[in-house]
Amino acid sequence: MKETIAAIATPQAVGGISVIRISGDEAFLIAGKIFKSVSGKIPAKMKGYTASYGAVVDIDSQVLDHGVLTVFRAPHSYTGEDTVEISCHGGLLITKEILRTVLNAGARIASPGEFTKRAFLNGKMDLTQAEAVSDLIASGSKQAMKISGEQVQGSLYRRIQGVRQTLLSLTGHLAVWADYPEEDIEEVEAETIMQQLNGVKSDLKKLLSDYDTGCMLKNGVNTAIVGKPNVGKSTLMNLLARREKSIVTDIPGTTRDVVEDTIVLQDVVLNLSDTAGIRETEDVVESFGVQRAVEKINTAQLILVLFDNSRPLSDEDFSIIERLKDKPAIAIVNKSDLTSMLDVEKLRSEFERVITISAQDEDSFDVVSKAVSEVLKLEEIDPAMGMLANERQYACVNEAYRAVCEASIILGEGMTYDAVTVVLEEALQSLLELTGERATEEVVNQVFSNFCVGK
Ligand code: GDP
Repeated sequence: MKETIAAIATPQAVGGISVIRISGDEAFLIAGKIFKSVSGKIPAKMKGYTASYGAVVDIDSQVLDHGVLTVFRAPHSYTGEDTVEISCHGGLLITKEILRTVLNAGARIASPGEFTKRAFLNGKMDLTQAEAVSDLIASGSKQAMKISGEQVQGSLYRRIQGVRQTLLSLTGHLAVWADYPEEDIEEVEAETIMQQLNGVKSDLKKLLSDYDTGCMLKNGVNTAIVGKPNVGKSTLMNLLARREKSIVTDIPGTTRDVVEDTIVLQDVVLNLSDTAGIRETEDVVESFGVQRAVEKINTAQLILVLFDNSRPLSDEDFSIIERLKDKPAIAIVNKSDLTSMLDVEKLRSEFERVITISAQDEDSFDVVSKAVSEVLKLEEIDPAMGMLANERQYACVNEAYRAVCEASIILGEGMTYDAVTVVLEEALQSLLELTGERATEEVVNQVFSNFCVGK
């Protein structure tokens, strides 16, 4: 019999309602000791998915609070075990007292992620789905939320399933053919195997190459705002952050170092850096800022480069354009409210995307937001297709890809099907590790150690 665990499932803060979750073989028994339903219902006799209103009492039968108890019967619960949830008033002390009473009545405090770990161990979800639960909770943008939401529903698992099936049927066929040469089993043509391996290789490669996009959506896109002094970089930063973070003045060189902020556009989080205006300068402090701005350009995943609509392009502008060659950049012509002196056509020939705005006008937020979405091709991302969500998953798929590549090389060299099978088994092993079907206890514990208590 597994120990019954309990924890507060809601945040450790004052709120309207708090929920205490109890899961395990003795969940109903323990609930029966501390919950007195007004209608006389007994948790152990209640049907699954039913609720009852009553008093939560301590060991001396003193009433601690009134609340609602909900019953989930195994296997139809989050963990797959008998589960009880008590919704009480959301006071910090009340909630803690009720948890203490539940523990005194026989439950053990749950460790971080233990409810989800039990769901995984009870076959309610695979490891990629379990990982997605904590990603979903942590997601900071709509796209990240959609991707994690689909992952909780098994999108990555399904995507991997196709690859796995191909590998399984291939290794199965090769093994039978190699082990029973006397049987009349049709030999698989090396060319047919090669075709299948190529298909698997390209599926795995696509999964690996989508990883960076997934990370960007999850962790935010490192974005640098650059341009020569006084083009409106700080004003744009404040517009996007919707508050005053950078100092706006008409004195060139005011932003002397990088100012950073995290902002949420509609679909995506941007980790914004407003950099010092890039120009030649004698000022030691300013030159340090300029150097940092150049470093930011080199590491940014997206660059918003500003130009002043009211002035012709200068040598400083041209040297910035030169630095941005082959970088993912959006050219922003700022100060559209002033008479245009700028050669926009020249910018169009240098940048894939050019937009014109006034950073002082709030409506420009949507214009920038739309351009960012388009340049990052966010519309093209289908949240349902399943993406790798972390380094562990990436490493498993990378290892499977390496093994499949090796298998096709040795097949090409004319080695025996036995040798090919051995390497393909390694690829399968990595995919089973990915889904948790053959992951070591250490890996599983590591995954759940990142969870919060109560999930
Ligand atoms: P930075 O040096 O590139 O960070 O530029 P700032 O954001 O400090 O802006 C420089 C000057 O341009 C300030 O006086 C701003 O008020 C002004 N400015 C910024 N955006 C606009 C705009 O869209 N229109 C006009 N007319 N002035 C702007």
